[in-house]
Amino acid sequence: MQTIRMSDLYGQYLTMKDEIDTAMQDVIKSTQFIKSGKVLDFEKKLSAYLGTNVTASGNGTDALQIAFMALDLQPGDEVITSPFTFVATVEVLVLLGLKPIFVDAQPGNFNIDVSLIEGAITSKTKAILPVHLFGQSANLEEIKTLAEKHKLFVVEDACQALGTDYIFKNGTKKRVGTIGDVGCNSFFPSKNLGAFGDGGAIYANNEKLAVIIRSIANHGMKAKYQYERIGVNSRLDSIQAAILEVKLKYFDRHIKARQKAAKYYDEHLGDIKEIKIPERVDYSTHTFHQYTIKTDKRDELQQFLKSKNIPSMVYYPGVIHMQEAYKFLGYKKDDFPVSEQLTKTVLSLPMHTELTEEQLEYIVKAVREFFIK
Ligand SMILES: *Cc1c(COP(=O)(O)O)cnc(C)c1O
Repeated sequence: MQTIRMSDLYGQYLTMKDEIDTAMQDVIKSTQFIKSGKVLDFEKKLSAYLGTNVTASGNGTDALQIAFMALDLQPGDEVITSPFTFVATVEVLVLLGLKPIFVDAQPGNFNIDVSLIEGAITSKTKAILPVHLFGQSANLEEIKTLAEKHKLFVVEDACQALGTDYIFKNGTKKRVGTIGDVGCNSFFPSKNLGAFGDGGAIYANNEKLAVIIRSIANHGMKAKYQYERIGVNSRLDSIQAAILEVKLKYFDRHIKARQKAAKYYDEHLGDIKEIKIPERVDYSTHTFHQYTIKTDKRDELQQFLKSKNIPSMVYYPGVIHMQEAYKFLGYKKDDFPVSEQLTKTVLSLPMHTELTEEQLEYIVKAVREFFIK
């Protein structure tokens, strides 16, 4: 059996090797490494896939920063988000002088607890920033309703959820990231659509906003050497765009492979009492950036799996409000008990597009052995 990995980027590459190699060679031959037609081609294809305007960026963190710059908020304005997320979600707010206001996550699906949002809204609140953690959407319909009522922006941190569909109460579906005012994505190698390096994208339905976003990502430029606003330099390079263009062709297949592995885990772990398999909500599909279980014996299980050469990861071992850099926000321990508890119980199992049935069988057998003996 092949070594089991958390993600198998090389194995996945081998399935597309000829096309990816040719695409990379084409860029090298063209020497158009920056801002070539390749980047525009990829943006166009992703835009068609999502049904919205897309601007590529250097990474997902930049995407979030550019999104908030484009909304033209003022220092001190408040943005509501969850403390159970990757640090980038919160970091960009602080960098822009905005104030992150946390509300707790839900224990079952790890996303922001929408029932707590309204209580956190003040006269300074300007935006809600839901994170679609691990590949499942936050409750966007309720978030949008609250945002409309209080005239707030919705910025989706969809970095872990490219390909996830939001399912509205009336049955219609829309890709996450395209439902709020702005959506942000990351092409970090292990994300659902991963580059061979860094990359990101910002989505906006509103054409004017999309133009502002494109300008900000390019030094605030309006026309050549004319700068109408303060911007940043954040671009996807041509080689990454060429790789992503190839990978986007196989993206549906890759998502299905993740979902198939998740189904296998569900079916073979769902009966173990000491484990909670990931809860599914009826308003979202799940693209399984991570397959994350919960158990009170998390650390022991992780050690046991390690002894069987099975990797696993804790996303996330700490909540943002207790991190040293974010202490100044004034939160304290136990302020967000659900999120804090999650950091002690979550464990992400190997999840990628190349997991074989043999590997999955080996993994679930080990987990069962640990609990059932
Ligand atoms: C990966 C990620 C980011 C940042 O993406 P980078 O491309 O690594 O900058 C932001 N938010 C979340 C939730 C992420 O998972």
